[in-house]
Amino acid sequence: MNNCSDVSIIEKSILVKTMATVTQMKCACDACVCIVAIEDAVKKDGKNYCSEACANGHPNGENCGHQGCDC
Ligand SMILES: [Zn+2]
Ligand SMILES: [Zn+2]
Ligand SMILES: [Zn+2]
Repeated sequence: MNNCSDVSIIEKSILVKTMATVTQMKCACDACVCIVAIEDAVKKDGKNYCSEACANGHPNGENCGHQGCDC
């Protein structure tokens, strides 16, 4: 009986740990819909961007290159 409840408690604690260690944010580019992990983000002026293109404000009109995003 105890075995069953123990397993579900362990699964829950793994889930919480994963969510706490990976911090994700929306790209700071207004038109961009990408979600970027802060540790992988391109950082500029204290903001987190999904790509160099977004961080530079799309100077050449290029998009960030991510599917489903037309920023
Ligand atoms: Zn984007
Ligand atoms: Zn972006
Ligand atoms: Zn963008």
